[in-house]
Amino acid sequence: MDSALISEYKQKIVEAGRFVTSCGVMSLSKHGNISARIPGEDAFLLTAGGTLSELGPENIALYELDGTLVEGAVEPTSAEIVDMHGVVYRLRPDAGGALHTHSPAATSLAVAYEPIPLIYEAMARFDMTDGVPLAGYGPRGSSESVDNIARAIKENPNTGGVLLANHGVLTFAADPMSSVRANVVIEEAAILYMNARAIGQANPIPAHMVGLTQRRRDEFAEMGVQRAS
Ligand SMILES: [Zn+2]
Repeated sequence: MDSALISEYKQKIVEAGRFVTSCGVMSLSKHGNISARIPGEDAFLLTAGGTLSELGPENIALYELDGTLVEGAVEPTSAEIVDMHGVVYRLRPDAGGALHTHSPAATSLAVAYEPIPLIYEAMARFDMTDGVPLAGYGPRGSSESVDNIARAIKENPNTGGVLLANHGVLTFAADPMSSVRANVVIEEAAILYMNARAIGQANPIPAHMVGLTQRRRDEFAEMGVQRAS
């Protein structure tokens, strides 16, 4: 495997680690793990220990998609959760990065066994039009837990994350940095969902508007930066 490519993607994980610890979604413990798919290879990199804010290349291990360790030294707590990331890359060919945290609002809904419906525009803009489903509980990284994650992903193809019952949240996107942004959107959606229900009801985006929301995003993206003529 191309060692320059591996180094490049380790650096993407290091940068995503710094970003996620700076954007306010972490729980008090600051616990989390981040992975990146190696393009063109049936392999991914995953944090193997250390803290997300101060990762180095030595804290990142290389795995085959089935979870076989190829390179690196992995702490026990990190070894437990390898397949939680592997299942994302096996089921979502479009995923290039995945992140797991215990973001407090999202995890509160995971404890309440409440999936998040499509109630927040940012969810539609991040292609989470199926909402954020709930994966039933199993011990972290176990086959029971991973099977539940797989079912949630298969039943909700248009999502960027899964709530992990009694545990936390798992997000995924085109690259590690985007998986952090997905975590931010889900945490915001979780806060809004709980607050809205506390004062009244949380209303889904009208179904006929969802496609229009995404089309408008795409049209402006295609036009690029607008400048005065
Ligand atoms: Zn966890």
